[in-house]
Formats: sequence, C-alpha cells, structure tokens
Amino acid sequence: MINDSKSIVFFGGAGVSTESGIPDFRSVDGLYNQKYDYPPEQILSHTFFVQNTKEFYDFYRDKMICLDAKPNKAHLKLAELEKAGKLTAVVTQNIDGLHSLAGNKKVYELHGSVHRNYCTKCGKFFGIEAITNSTGVPTCECGGVIKPDVVLYEEGLDNDTIQGAVKAIAGCDMLIIAGTSMTVYPAAGLVRYFRGKYLVEINRDPTAIDDRCDLVIHGKVGETLDKIEV
Ligand code: NAD
Ligand code: ZN
Repeated sequence: MINDSKSIVFFGGAGVSTESGIPDFRSVDGLYNQKYDYPPEQILSHTFFVQNTKEFYDFYRDKMICLDAKPNKAHLKLAELEKAGKLTAVVTQNIDGLHSLAGNKKVYELHGSVHRNYCTKCGKFFGIEAITNSTGVPTCECGGVIKPDVVLYEEGLDNDTIQGAVKAIAGCDMLIIAGTSMTVYPAAGLVRYFRGKYLVEINRDPTAIDDRCDLVIHGKVGETLDKIEV
C-alpha cells in the first residue's frame, strides 16, 4: 500500500508518543486511570484554568510537559517518509512537539503545543521555559497570566489549522490513523474527509473505526512504522 501511494497523510494521537515515555489518556496506565484531586478532564478545561490557575499549573508542569522525551521510531519514520516525498502531512492531536523535533515540516497540531505560550493580557509569546523556569502561576512583565497555546476542553480549535488538516486529508491517497482512541471531537471527525484509496489504522486497542479500514494493525505504532522501507 505504501509503494502504491503518492501522498500519504498520518493522523495521530497520544499513542504515537507513549513509546517516547509520554503517557496517553485512556490506556490502563494512562492519565485518566491515575488518581488526582480532580479528574484530568476537569483540570484540563478552560473553566478550571481560569478559576484554579495554580492547581492547573501544578498538574500541567507535572504531567503534560515531558522535556526529556525524544522522538521515537514512529516520529523518525514519518520524517523519513516526508523527506522521500511520500508523506504530505502529519495531523496530530498531540501537544508535545515531537513531530517537528523529528524533522517533519508539514505538521498540523490540532490541539496546539506546549512549546508555545502567550500572555492573556498583552498577547506576548513565550517559549516553554516561561512555564518550566517559573513556579506557581507564570506571569508576563505586564502582569498578565501566561497561558499555554494548547486547546483545553471547552475551547475551540484554530481555524487555519483545521482547514489545513482537512485539505491534506481530503487530498491524500492513503490515510494512516494511529495511536488514537478516536473519541476526542472535533479532531476524530476530520477523518470523514478522506476520499483516497487506503485507510489504515495502527492502534494497540480496537477503536470504533476498525470496521471502516482497509487494513487494521493492532500493535505498537513505532514498531510497526519502523518496518517500512522507504
Ligand atoms: P487516547 O489516550 O484517548 O488514546 C490513545 C490510544 O493509543 C489508545 O487507543 C491506545 O490503545 C493507543 N496506544 C497507546 N500506545 C500505543 C502504541 N505505542 N502504539 C499504538 N497504539 C497505542 O489519545 P487520543 O485519542 O490522542 O486523545 C487524547 C487527547 O489527549 C488528545 O486530544 C491529545 O491532545 C491529548 N494528549 C496528548 C499527549 C501528547 O501530546 N503526547 C499525551 C496525552 C494526551
Ligand atoms: Zn503581557
């Protein structure tokens, strides 16, 4: 299928980064099955960020930022496929920035990135150090609270990013869906724009789209992609 395809798009989720040591949300060892004072869905919501900013940042610094995580075999193979002119875009729900770090140029980060942060008052942008080199609630020189440029629950997705992702998915001949439970909307819904030849899924656990795929591999995404010869 890879050999027969000219424009491949990869649509991924948290499972793409578990082999880099970043936990996903819904696996048994994922964040949703660990115990916190509040459920993670609540902590990662816009309301919680506004009302309990300090608690948000305690969780966020501890669980969402993994500075020493490195691209794994999945990220590296995708960068190789792009370089070879086979892969046209990566569409990801991840916020860890690992696809860009691996060298991919066309990456649509549907849920933003921990590497971008901005002042909610004056709009000034900050890198990840503004969060990691501070304690409590990080603030700007102007006194405004700094917010990560990641999409929290209750927040909408960036329009340009969605449009770019839809265009890539609608125009590709092969779509590989990997490491995602396909339960987070609207991200998961973007797959319906696919009109190409091969719909492939690589995921450890079964998902609701298994039945619609031309090929389903229930395995690790890094190990699986690593077997592709470019
Ligand atoms: P999810 O946690 O809902 O589902 C992850 C899926 O990946 C599961 O079905 C699991 O079986 C599978 N999986 C885990 N490890 C795998 C591996 N090595 N190989 C193949 N499959 C594997 O993740 P989701 O669907 O992406 O939704 C979670 C949301 O959480 C996303 O919106 C994302 O923004 C966010 N999130 C991001 C990160 C990150 O940036 N790395 C980490 C956790 C959560
Ligand atoms: Zn400011």
